Amino acid sequence: MMDVIIIGGGFSGVAAARILHKANKSFIVLEARERLGGRVYTKRFENGQYLDFGGQWIGPTQDRMYALCKEYGVDYFETYNEGYNILDFGQKVKKYRGLIPKIDIISLLNLDWLLRKMERMAKNIPASKPWSHPKSETYDNILLSDFIKKNCITQSSHKVITYGLETVFACGLHTISLLHALFYIKSGHNLNGLISIKDGAQQHRIVGGMQTLVDRMAAEFQSKIHFNHPVESIKQDTNSVGVAGDGFEFEAKNVIIAIPPPLAAEIKFSPELTSQKSQLINRISMGKVGKCFMVYDKPFWRDSKFSGQALADEQSPFQTLFDSSPKNGEYGVILGFTIADRAEDFFKKSLEQRKQAMLQKLVDYFGEEAKNPTAYHDFTMTDEIWSRGCYAGLYPVGGWTAFQNAYSKPEDRIFWAGTEASDAWFGYIEGAVRAGERAAGEILDLRS
Ligand SMILES: Cc1cc2nc3c(=O)[nH]c(=O)nc-3n(C[C@H](O)[C@H](O)[C@H](O)COP(=O)(O)OP(=O)(O)OC[C@H]3O[C@@H](n4cnc5c(N)ncnc54)[C@H](O)[C@@H]3O)c2cc1C
Repeated sequence: MMDVIIIGGGFSGVAAARILHKANKSFIVLEARERLGGRVYTKRFENGQYLDFGGQWIGPTQDRMYALCKEYGVDYFETYNEGYNILDFGQKVKKYRGLIPKIDIISLLNLDWLLRKMERMAKNIPASKPWSHPKSETYDNILLSDFIKKNCITQSSHKVITYGLETVFACGLHTISLLHALFYIKSGHNLNGLISIKDGAQQHRIVGGMQTLVDRMAAEFQSKIHFNHPVESIKQDTNSVGVAGDGFEFEAKNVIIAIPPPLAAEIKFSPELTSQKSQLINRISMGKVGKCFMVYDKPFWRDSKFSGQALADEQSPFQTLFDSSPKNGEYGVILGFTIADRAEDFFKKSLEQRKQAMLQKLVDYFGEEAKNPTAYHDFTMTDEIWSRGCYAGLYPVGGWTAFQNAYSKPEDRIFWAGTEASDAWFGYIEGAVRAGERAAGEILDLRS
């Protein structure tokens, strides 16, 4: 009988497969889509250009990602981060340098104080068991939005931190608890790192796109990957686990599940999962974000000393913009993040309306040259049936204290991976890799 069936060919499933392959175990990967990568998706165009429609950045302390890049000979480069950023508040466009926008001094002091306060609070949360913090119940029942509102004394500080955090969590701040936010920050080390390019989670990009890495990781065991194999049911007994879908059935000693929680909730388990796990996977929702790309012959804004970064209030469809051009600026790409309610409204418009909305903003920021893009593309994983949203699963309010580590706990022969099963870099590709490697390790330990 085969040793392991891995469900899901995202970074987590592939990271698990890689460990099992090195340990000479027999396994297959069942992947619903016709490609690897899941929430990482590099769209490659006929003219040789590429865009990362899913995850794209890595940064310091994401040690597994850097080690994998080294092992597979995948190059990375610094995210462009020079010059003036744009602040677009109240229909006024201002430029500023550095991480914190040019707003009035009271708002600046308030922001600085609040960021420090959140850093201090997150530092004390044990990422491996956030429910054990003495104030976990209180924090888990406060909405992040209420906490931010209570601690902001000006409208500007409230706006800046709200839009920054929406970009970090990919959701409206009323959808998560303070505890989930603090856990997420701690799992990625600190808030400053999560919002920064330099020395932060947005520091590097992969040459050729993030999918290059996952494809190379899987190259040695391509024949073991079954594409277009969405799993519908998992049945385990004392000796084995049976995994089935439309037109296929496999059996193995163990299974690793490496898919987003809402999709795990749609699999029929027999016997049923424990009630803790089952209730949790049915309550975790996914974040909502769209990535919008305006492509130019060159990153012309750099000549006028603009970084390509912007932070904007509700009158813009985009919370934040970044320069997402490839290495050496071979062509120019501005990436806009539209998140939560803004994403909902934005994707109701036609493609042409969406393009015009982004163009208008770029002309406002960077002048007439912005009027001549070579292409516009946008993408949201919310519309993808095998993702249902992103960047990651959002614990329900009160969820950490009620369900604790139910998500990552094995259920007999079923082991749990995916970025949502990681206590380090939860929500990030690094977290996906770590969880996949951990799940594979749990199976290897069992059998040694
Ligand atoms: C727009 C966007 C931007 C992001 N930016 C970043 C970033 O810059 N840096 C970063 O570190 N992270 C980023 N992330 C998050 C990161 O991409 C994810 O955390 C990570 O890729 C998750 O990997 P995973 O393997 O856990 O899950 P997934 O990538 O979701 O993989 C799960 C796989 O399982 C498959 N699947 C689902 N259901 C079934 C089923 N029933 N049967 C079989 N297969 C199934 C799916 O098709 C998918 O391939 C971003 C995500 C998005 C969407």
